[in-house]
Amino acid sequence: MLPSPGEKQLVLRHHDHSHGHQHGHSHDHGLVETRSKGSHTIKVVKRVLDANEVTAGRNRRLFADKKVFVLNMMSSPGSGKTTTLEKTLVQLLPEFRAAVIVGDICTTNDADRLAASGAPVVQINTDKFGGDCHLAAHVIEKALDGIDLDSIDLLIVENIGNLVCPAEFDIGEDKRVVVLSVTEGEDKPAKYPLMFRVCDAALLNKIDLLPYLDYNLEEAEHTIGQINPAMPIFKLSAKTEEGFEAWIDWVKQQVKAKLGNSS
Ligand code: MG
Ligand code: ZN
Repeated sequence: MLPSPGEKQLVLRHHDHSHGHQHGHSHDHGLVETRSKGSHTIKVVKRVLDANEVTAGRNRRLFADKKVFVLNMMSSPGSGKTTTLEKTLVQLLPEFRAAVIVGDICTTNDADRLAASGAPVVQINTDKFGGDCHLAAHVIEKALDGIDLDSIDLLIVENIGNLVCPAEFDIGEDKRVVVLSVTEGEDKPAKYPLMFRVCDAALLNKIDLLPYLDYNLEEAEHTIGQINPAMPIFKLSAKTEEGFEAWIDWVKQQVKAKLGNSS
């Protein structure tokens, strides 16, 4: 039985959401960069990531108990993540019961689009606490209040558009996917290697635009292969759905592997 359609909005206010970054700049946190020199900042960053690991572990145990497969989708802004997810839901919903958590700094635009699939959608807006540029494990834990895990097989998290820090924050997911649009340039994997190292699959999106671009597809694939040789790369267009089948097959395989014989 499919969960009833609906959308819930969750605006999180985190006064205690310090992860070592300096006031007024939300990107220089985590292990990416520490502005203030000295051991203090590094210790704070380590504590935050350690705390995140604990919460992520709790999420992971809950997802295991409830037999819910969790997919964390990450990308830079404008990669076509939401369109990819819309089309993916259409293909998965006949077979699996799914829910979505959407992270954005502001707006519910993406959640509105995804709710049209009929899957329950929880929107997280981080603008109320400084516009955090990633979803941390405790934010996911909070969002789970709005989702009935007993009634779903699959939870997809659309992370905040950013190739840097979402890669550092484990949320308790089973698999991570990075979506990269061919309009972004073939040098992005080399510039953001951590994202490609921690992900289990890469989607090269908008291949319908290749005739109009000087994009070097081979170079992109080669770089990704150097960073993460085992990672499958799906070349597709969420718009035309070219190349979509292999991606959908991969997701289905992952979900079935988690659900085991109960599916
Ligand atoms: Mg989006
Ligand atoms: Zn961040």
